Amino acid sequence: MAAADDWVARTAAQVRMEGERRHPGEVPTCASGISPSGPVHLGNLRELMTPHLVADEVRRNGAPCRHILSWDDYDRLRRVPAGLPDSFDEYIGRPLSGVPDPCGQHENFAEHFKDPLRESLDALGIQVTEISQTEMYTSGAYTAQIILAMRRRADIGAVLSRYRTKRTEVDEAEQQPGEYYPFRPYCASCGRDDATVTGFDDQTTEITYTCACGAVAGPTPIADVAGKLAWKVDWPMRWSYEHVTFEPAGVDHASPGSSFTVGEALVTEIFGGEMPLHFGYAFVGHKGGSSKMSGSRGGAPTPADALEIFEAPLLRWLYARRRPEQGFTLAFDDEVGRIYDEWDRLGTKAAEGNLEPASYAVFVRASSTSDGPLPATPRPLRFSTLASAADITAGDPTQMLRIVRDLTADDPVDNLDEVRPRLDCAQAWVNGYVAPAKRTQVRTEPDYARLAALAGSERESVDLLLKHMADYWSLDSLTTLVYGVPKLQRGLPIDAPPDDELKVAQRAWFILLYQLLIGKDTGPRLPTLLLALGQDRVRSLLAPG
Ligand SMILES: [Zn+2]
Ligand SMILES: [Zn+2]
Repeated sequence: MAAADDWVARTAAQVRMEGERRHPGEVPTCASGISPSGPVHLGNLRELMTPHLVADEVRRNGAPCRHILSWDDYDRLRRVPAGLPDSFDEYIGRPLSGVPDPCGQHENFAEHFKDPLRESLDALGIQVTEISQTEMYTSGAYTAQIILAMRRRADIGAVLSRYRTKRTEVDEAEQQPGEYYPFRPYCASCGRDDATVTGFDDQTTEITYTCACGAVAGPTPIADVAGKLAWKVDWPMRWSYEHVTFEPAGVDHASPGSSFTVGEALVTEIFGGEMPLHFGYAFVGHKGGSSKMSGSRGGAPTPADALEIFEAPLLRWLYARRRPEQGFTLAFDDEVGRIYDEWDRLGTKAAEGNLEPASYAVFVRASSTSDGPLPATPRPLRFSTLASAADITAGDPTQMLRIVRDLTADDPVDNLDEVRPRLDCAQAWVNGYVAPAKRTQVRTEPDYARLAALAGSERESVDLLLKHMADYWSLDSLTTLVYGVPKLQRGLPIDAPPDDELKVAQRAWFILLYQLLIGKDTGPRLPTLLLALGQDRVRSLLAPG
């Protein structure tokens, strides 16, 4: 099969070539950066998925590749995320790693938000080398780079003003009057970054600063002062330090005058490195929500929320099938079932060898990593069928197993684990994302009034169903029977092709059944609903007594 020529394949080839040209003999590096300043939202997953797909493609092709995840945990706390008490206000201005953990089970505030993302990355097969910027800065790893940046502060200031436009976000340090200093201390007295640098001695490397809290510090060797480089300087410094070969970023970083433009000038003119291969990726939105997303999540889902609904390979596929410049929307609403169907069709075609090379490459990247296949549901029954089963049984495992057995009559599933994790995804979706009005409430007792008022032909159709039901007790056969009842009533064969009149009769018959079973005009597919209820319950609702 011909190799795919798409953005992943091309970028991976470039990473190998550029990595070797820039740093011969070294493992090339792809980079992601995340600020653990609150719940890491699903929108941020593209920041990880994009370099992952490229790094993993390099590895699939037999060469090593490093994917680093830079945690910006030494950034200041800018605002307290929704759902946390106001008492956290006092930590604004401190490094994220220096703010207490909101739940008491983590080392600090930053770790509290890192942990859920780590679990999701693990489930998605995204292997990263984590780099804590707190550890890097406080261990003195960057001291030489900080001193270099401070000595070249006039040049850096000139670069920043060269690219400054009205529309560009200005670093806070740039707004301060007087000389520009690219280093922002965390005040030794109050721990916040409300400090203003008042001097730096290029020879002794001693720094002095004052702070809003009243502290006057220094001269102190800068190596002994807590603090970090301003963001626009910090980023190119790290490209050079980590020998980053490829680092994408959201399109907002890729526009003219943005961090990419400024970074390119700084990494070459100041830090003696090269601009990584890069491009901007478009925004990933979401639609359909759950109650738990509002409140503490600030209304947006996290990767963990998505993994509750989507099997990991399917979630990877939703990203892998798009080009980076394509924005897209992750659906948590009624579309979920259709997305699963599309994924299943792709899997079937892949197994049959019926996919174009481009689609096949995307399927392989979604369903496996260079380490091998990701865990998949052994018996992937249709998502919407499992969702109906979960809905109708209210999640009762005994009832669900009975239904799943009936659904697989030819080769019965004998343990629900065979349909997991998809069953759990379907259940989580029904519980969290299906509006209560759309949930199925099976009648607890027969609709006696309606049954007593059935017209003769209605009674006849109900009786036909009850008469043949036992012989047609599988998903396919019940489908034939349910559609066939109006045909039998007209003396037609059960598999006769429907005409317009028959279609009208079928619709009226379906509404009657839904009314008698669940008290609504629509619901889950009728064969699924019948299987879910079981013959005894169907009989008791349609022909009580
Ligand atoms: Zn915590
Ligand atoms: Zn202070």
